[in-house]
Amino acid sequence: MKNIKPKKSLGQNFLKSKEILDVIIQTANIKDKDIILEIGPGKGVLTQKLLEKAKEVIVVEKDNRLIEFLNEKFENDIKTKKLKIIEGDILDIDICEVLDTLQYKIVANIPYYITGQIIKKFLSGENQPSDIVLMVQKEVAERIVDKPESILSLSVKVYGTPKYIKTVKAKHFSPQPKVDSAILLIKNISKDIFIENKIKESDFFDLIKAGFSHKRKVLISNLKKEWKNNKNKDLINIFEKNNISLKSRAENLSLENWFDILKK
Ligand code: SAH
Repeated sequence: MKNIKPKKSLGQNFLKSKEILDVIIQTANIKDKDIILEIGPGKGVLTQKLLEKAKEVIVVEKDNRLIEFLNEKFENDIKTKKLKIIEGDILDIDICEVLDTLQYKIVANIPYYITGQIIKKFLSGENQPSDIVLMVQKEVAERIVDKPESILSLSVKVYGTPKYIKTVKAKHFSPQPKVDSAILLIKNISKDIFIENKIKESDFFDLIKAGFSHKRKVLISNLKKEWKNNKNKDLINIFEKNNISLKSRAENLSLENWFDILKK
């Protein structure tokens, strides 16, 4: 194996635990018809496992040294078209161009410096995956899944159902990162909630951003001040009608509460 010096700037922490790889694979519940997109395959330890289960695997890797390595390692799977390797930055890639299908899953141990951007791109984008299994920083997984709610947790829950699968200690990576990690599953991803409630995505995000704008203020003051759609709305009446306390802070509201505020 060639010696590739890990690049910190690319968030390179390679997974070295076989047990953890197995947990990721079990969580992804891969069927033999499944098409999998993997972000940041690194040296391909997860890719290898994905290839054993899936119909097709597409990987996007930014580091050209690793592209070379992967091309050699997976020569056969590339030939049979089971594996497609794309060199590039996942944030610049147009998903519709690299996938011939609308039905796919993401399974990845990603570079943590772009966790938020990856989640945003694939949850709010046009061609959403049905499920996402990601290794993320432990605190990020907790913030997404646990209460109190945040802009981050609501931005995930509005599209899918997040589940904290397992804590993964830093010692399972090489080089060892400073933080512990966790496997996060986001399942049943769709935009149905917007369609069913006849609410525009941008209106939802405008509302929650206004709601969380000043941490120490109660929600209703933030909305009066910062929510540009609040004109002509009797906020006190809306709160009372929906059993939302006038003393609530943004972090105490459930997803349903936010939709109640938006509905006419
Ligand atoms: N999945 C591998 C590697 C994880 S490290 C494993 O578990 O061992 C993160 C990987 O993401 C590295 O290979 C890094 O080069 C790659 N990467 C970093 N930034 C990227 C980007 N913007 N787009 C695609 N891949 C990226």
